[in-house]
Amino acid sequence: MKPTYNIKTALSFDRQNILHPYTSMTEPILSYLVESANLAKIKLSTGQELVDGMSSWWCAIHGYNNPILNKAVEEQLKKMAHIMFGGLTHKPAIELGQLLLELTPANLTKIFYSDSGSVAVEVAIKMAIQYYSAIGKPRKTKLLTISSGYHGDTFMAMSVCDPITGMHSIFNGVVTKNYFADAPMCGFRDEWDDSDIDSLKRNLEANHEKIAAIILEPIVQGAGGMRFYHPEYLRQTRQLCDKYDVLLILDEIATGFGRTGKLFACEYADIAPDIMCIGKSITGGYMTFAATLTTQKLSEVISSAKPGVFMHGPTYMGNPLACAVAIASTNLLINSPWQQRVSDIESQLSRELAPLRNSELVADVRVLGAIGVVETHKNVELEIIQKKFVDLGVWIRPFGKLIYIMPPYIITDPEITALTSAIKRVISENDGIFKD
Ligand SMILES: *Cc1c(COP(=O)(O)O)cnc(C)c1O
Repeated sequence: MKPTYNIKTALSFDRQNILHPYTSMTEPILSYLVESANLAKIKLSTGQELVDGMSSWWCAIHGYNNPILNKAVEEQLKKMAHIMFGGLTHKPAIELGQLLLELTPANLTKIFYSDSGSVAVEVAIKMAIQYYSAIGKPRKTKLLTISSGYHGDTFMAMSVCDPITGMHSIFNGVVTKNYFADAPMCGFRDEWDDSDIDSLKRNLEANHEKIAAIILEPIVQGAGGMRFYHPEYLRQTRQLCDKYDVLLILDEIATGFGRTGKLFACEYADIAPDIMCIGKSITGGYMTFAATLTTQKLSEVISSAKPGVFMHGPTYMGNPLACAVAIASTNLLINSPWQQRVSDIESQLSRELAPLRNSELVADVRVLGAIGVVETHKNVELEIIQKKFVDLGVWIRPFGKLIYIMPPYIITDPEITALTSAIKRVISENDGIFKD
C-alpha cells in the first residue's frame, strides 16, 4: 500500500506534536518510524530490520504478527469489539478468568479486569485500603515498599515507585507519602543474609498500625533498577505481613507469564500474595490490558461493609478483544515448552554477556530467565547509543546505567547473538555512548 503521507512530513509532525514516553515535550530525541513487525523483527520505514531485544517493554512474548493471536482478535471482532461490563458479561471474560485463576496461586479466587498496569496497581491499593476500612481499622491507609521499585505512572502507583528515579520531588506534596525500606542487597543467586530484611522489618515494627499493605515486584525489580533479589526476602516478607496484619500486594506486571523462568515470580519463594497485579504480556503485547486478583476473604470483608461494593469500574473493563487475545496468548504459552525456551535464553544470555564483566565500563552483568542486564558505571547518552544499536540492526533501549534485553521467547539463537554482540560492540567502541 502506498503511504498517504510523506515520511519526512509525518516524522516532523510526530516530533512537533506527538509526545513520547519520558521525553522532552519540545526537544524530543529521535523516534524511528516502524512499518511493521514480524516474529522477533521490527521493520522500519527505511526497510531496515531490527532484532527486537525489548518485547515492546516486556509484552510481546510470542513476537509480532502471530497468526494464532491475530486470529483470536479477528474472530472476536466479528462478534463484538467491546461491550460495557456493568450488568453485562461475556464468554471471553469468563474463559480468561477460569484460565488465569487456575494458573495463579490457589488462594486467589477473584479477578478484576482493567486497562493498564498502573490501573491494576491503583485497584490493588484500593482493595487493601477498602479492606481495612471495612474491617474497622481505618487508620491503615499507608503502603510500605522498597527502594528501586516501579509500579506505574498514576499518582498512587507513583507514590510507591522509587522516590529518586520516580522524581517524587517534582510532585512534592501531591504524591502521597508512603514508607520505604532499603532495597534488598542479596542478589537472586547470593547466599542469603538474614540482615537483608532488617530495614523492612524495622519499618513494619514501627509503622504497621498505619500500613495497609506491602507492595513489591517479586524477585525482579524492573524499571526501577533491573535488580534481582533473593527469594528468601519474599518468603520472610510474607511471614512479616501475617505477623503484623498487613496485606501483601505482588506486582507481577513485568515478571508474569514466564519471563523470570517461573510462570509467576512468586513461585520462586513458594508464597501467595493477598492481591496480585498482572498485565503487560497478558495479551502477548496485542492490547492494553491488566488484572488484579484477590482472595475470597478480602472480597467478603470488603463487601460486608458500606457501601457493600468495591469502588472501581473502568469504562473498558473486561474488553472482549483484549480478553480473547489474552486467552489465546496464555494458552499458546502454557502449551509450549516455554520453561525450556526461557532457560535456554538464560544460558545463552549468561554465556554471551559474561565477557562484559571484564570491561572497566561495566559495573555488573546479571541474567535471570529471559532478562539480561548490563549495568554500566555511567549513564548512557540515549540518542547516541540508540542510533548505534539501530545501525547494528538491533532494537535495544537502555535507560540510565542499564543496558538490558528481554527478547520475545520465540527469538532465534542467532538473533540473540545479534543482540549480545551489539551490546559488546557499542561498549567496546565506547564512542560517545556515555554521559560524563
Ligand atoms: C509497566 C509496569 C507497571 C505499569 O503498567 P502500565 O501498563 O505501563 O500502566 C506497573 N508495575 C510494573 C512492575 C511494571 O513493570
